[in-house]
Amino acid sequence: MRRRRFRKWAKWACTAVAMMVLALTVASRWWMVSYGWRGSGGAPYHVGIGTGVVTYERNIAFEKRPTGWDLRASAGWQWGFVSAEIPGNQWRLGVYYYSSPGFGWALGVTLVYVAALASLPAALLWYADRRRFGPHACSECGYDRRGLAADAKCPECGTVPTK
Ligand SMILES: [Zn+2]
Repeated sequence: MRRRRFRKWAKWACTAVAMMVLALTVASRWWMVSYGWRGSGGAPYHVGIGTGVVTYERNIAFEKRPTGWDLRASAGWQWGFVSAEIPGNQWRLGVYYYSSPGFGWALGVTLVYVAALASLPAALLWYADRRRFGPHACSECGYDRRGLAADAKCPECGTVPTK
């Protein structure tokens, strides 16, 4: 019973996380959110979400950019599957890695993967919860109620059947 309550809680918590990631994915169509900071030796690091992708970079081009949060307009969804708009962009099936001495390095993953991964626990918990007990079983814990009075408390979890 306590276990079941935890499962219910976990189900909704995972659903909330999945919803937030999905909302972020949708929002990345219009906005690009990023955070920049300086690492050791003043190296510019940058993590951002926009155009349906999430990127993590140590990019020399960001040396002049101010650190901290940055919000700017996003140019539609790119998802990391279409590279035509950016020459030299090497996205492969939603994953991107690039490294060069004159640039630094960049790592990118499509939000499609992130959203799918975030939705997986919620989907599994919903699927597990969908399981229905038989007609003679307690609706809360699945205890076999055969032989009990119709309005008797479940001896396992204490649930009173509602008709
Ligand atoms: Zn029960």
